[in-house]
Amino acid sequence: MNTQLSGFEFERPAGLPALRALLTRLGREQRRFAVAAGGTDLMPQLKQRLVAPEVLVSLNGVGELAGIAVQDDGTLRIGALTRLADLVDSTLVRQHQPALAAAAGRVASPQIRNRATLGGNLLVNNRCIYVNQSPLNRTVHAPCFKVDGDVCHIVKSAVRGQLPQCQARFVSDTAPVLLLLEARLVLLRGRGERRVPLRRFYRNDGMERNVLRPGEVIGWIEIPPATGLQVDYDKLAVRNALDFPSLGVAVGVRRDAAGQPLELSVALTGLGTHPGCWRHAIADGASLSKVVAKACARAGKFATTYQQDFFPRDYRKKMIGVFIHRSLRRLGV
Ligand SMILES: Cc1cc2nc3c(=O)[nH]c(=O)nc-3n(C[C@H](O)[C@H](O)[C@H](O)COP(=O)(O)OP(=O)(O)OC[C@H]3O[C@@H](n4cnc5c(N)ncnc54)[C@H](O)[C@@H]3O)c2cc1C
Repeated sequence: MNTQLSGFEFERPAGLPALRALLTRLGREQRRFAVAAGGTDLMPQLKQRLVAPEVLVSLNGVGELAGIAVQDDGTLRIGALTRLADLVDSTLVRQHQPALAAAAGRVASPQIRNRATLGGNLLVNNRCIYVNQSPLNRTVHAPCFKVDGDVCHIVKSAVRGQLPQCQARFVSDTAPVLLLLEARLVLLRGRGERRVPLRRFYRNDGMERNVLRPGEVIGWIEIPPATGLQVDYDKLAVRNALDFPSLGVAVGVRRDAAGQPLELSVALTGLGTHPGCWRHAIADGASLSKVVAKACARAGKFATTYQQDFFPRDYRKKMIGVFIHRSLRRLGV
């Protein structure tokens, strides 16, 4: 198998002003570029010829975008280049948002988490058994939409221009937890920045996956102060390490001052083209089991998942309810 990289120019801006200047220049020159953080997702794609940038921009010299801090108003601000291993070990994260540390600890393996970043994890490319293959393996099938072809091997009736164009699965382990925590992204471009709530960031398509504009990068992830929300995350995968989630379920419970559950929230990864996220109020005197049943039904409906995983799709759908119940037990509800 030929895993030689195709040629590209390499840039490594030293610091944020240099990165902004480079993004402006590359935009002006209309160059096709890709940014690399830890490279643990991007490198395999470069080798498999799924992406072919003219310029590869390494973010590793932009130290301003790494690190974790609590702001005066209690917001937890995490640089996009913060390594997952540092999130797992961070006293601040464990103290303020332990579920994020736990979800980061479920990504891949210790070696990968030592390189992989939070920003890269939120942008990990959607996966499909037909396209995430070597170029040689891909010759068995006609090229699909994701590699400039004319078919989708998952949905044979799909036609060009119809959304979702591509059914490749969303697989980030940290996104569901950050969705429940109402995180927002600070997106940087040549000049200026904008804030986008994570719940408005992802799109229902395996190719046009999010609202990131050309030349924009994720600078920081901001999590508002915790307001009595407890979150738990667990994933279904063939092995405990290295495997992407076949299903990932984050469950949140908000309680009142007396400890009574006020709201149940659920977010999913690994099933569709984007993460799902719902909140269910628990009215005074309402039966919790009814609210849980409603949450399971809604999540199951979202999971119009196609067969493109080791686990049969019906099994993955059934496991949503099992995971919700297990999480509730761990959260003491
Ligand atoms: C064997 C293996 C197992 C894996 N298992 C898992 C798993 O279980 N769960 C999981 O979630 N992931 C898994 N991954 C995928 C990947 O390792 C992680 O998602 C990782 O967090 C990606 O981070 P990175 O910094 O390496 O991203 P990179 O590879 O550097 O980048 C990933 C994508 O994000 C873009 N990008 C990165 N940072 C920024 C930024 N700041 N602004 C704009 N764009 C940016 C890149 O251009 C690229 O498109 C696995 C990978 C491998 C090789």
